Amino acid sequence: MTDASLAAVSFQGVTKRYGPVAAVSDVSLDIASGEFFALLGSSGSGKTTLLMLLAGFDKPTEGSVLMSGTSVSDVPPHRRQIGVVFQNYALFPHMTAAENVAYPLKMRGVGRADREARVNAALSLVNLTDRGASYPSQLSGGQQQRVALARSLVFGPSLLLMDEPLGALDRRLRDQMQLELKRIQGELGITVIYVTHDQSEAMAMANRIGIMAGGRLLQVADPETIYAAPSSHFVARFLGECSILRATAIDNGRGYEIAGARQALPLATAAPFDIVVRPENVAVRSATSAAADGAFGIPAKIRDVTYLGAGWRVTLALPDGQSLLATVVRGDEAAGRLEPGKDVIARWAPGAVAVLPAEGTI
Ligand code: ADP
Ligand code: MG
Repeated sequence: MTDASLAAVSFQGVTKRYGPVAAVSDVSLDIASGEFFALLGSSGSGKTTLLMLLAGFDKPTEGSVLMSGTSVSDVPPHRRQIGVVFQNYALFPHMTAAENVAYPLKMRGVGRADREARVNAALSLVNLTDRGASYPSQLSGGQQQRVALARSLVFGPSLLLMDEPLGALDRRLRDQMQLELKRIQGELGITVIYVTHDQSEAMAMANRIGIMAGGRLLQVADPETIYAAPSSHFVARFLGECSILRATAIDNGRGYEIAGARQALPLATAAPFDIVVRPENVAVRSATSAAADGAFGIPAKIRDVTYLGAGWRVTLALPDGQSLLATVVRGDEAAGRLEPGKDVIARWAPGAVAVLPAEGTI
């Protein structure tokens, strides 16, 4: 997407400095209307700062923030029509759930009858119809977060910002709320920007993911692309397990060689490059059977085996000293017995690798 006027949100060269610290550094990003966009990064990467600049609680040092093609730099937060949900709910403890949800409507001067109807609709949307009279202290963490969500949606924003909203909930509740958030977003058709440091959460929920580190936006893509074709070593390592192997270019970059094994690349690539292989794409084969068929395969020695329940995580040592991770699923007979010290062959399909410029060369 390149046309900023069509984007629900457009960050254009946005930098935010606090003294010498650049919390956000030259971020340009367009988010389409109706998109579920996840901002993913570890703590301190600038995610919250970016949201605050959009919500209007803070101003960029450089660059501009647009909503539907118009700069919002002079628009105060309450006029930006943005719903915001934080991790810590921030409910008013002395107000009932219904009063909490009604609060943004009161602030906007909505009359009593209209208010009541909208509060009921919002509570029903988050499945809390019967808890309107409860105080926050009488509600579970999950229910409190639903109230916070209802409050952020009750005035009909077209954009919802969520900052680690499920971080305080236990695993089971989090999974359930993830599904519900997706349902609610679908029902309302609103744009969501969702901040998380949890990669599986981002993958499960988002149409697109933006990876942040050190205030910079490193890569923006849909979950499949970002997982299969990371643009840097950092992104490859950040999103799930992988092995990054130093490979020697052969055939003018149309292939590579590792420890004597040669394979073609889908696209010719300028050397030097590293290749990224996800453990689930690595097949472990017994040395005798695989050596015979002549297909691509690297001789390796099993160094370590960890039982995972659904299978095993196997660490392999390659003859050139590099280390390779593989997952072997239960029932994969051809892998043979997995024992440390055993010689095997490791192989993968040509399309299973991503290619990165060798670290230290860019
Ligand atoms: P995240 O939400 O990804 O954890 P933040 O946006 O909160 O990251 O912070 C990014 C960086 O900016 C951090 O180094 C943080 O210490 C710094 N920072 C954030 N807000 C302020 C502030 N108000 N004053 C000074 N430094 C800040
Ligand atoms: Mg934060």
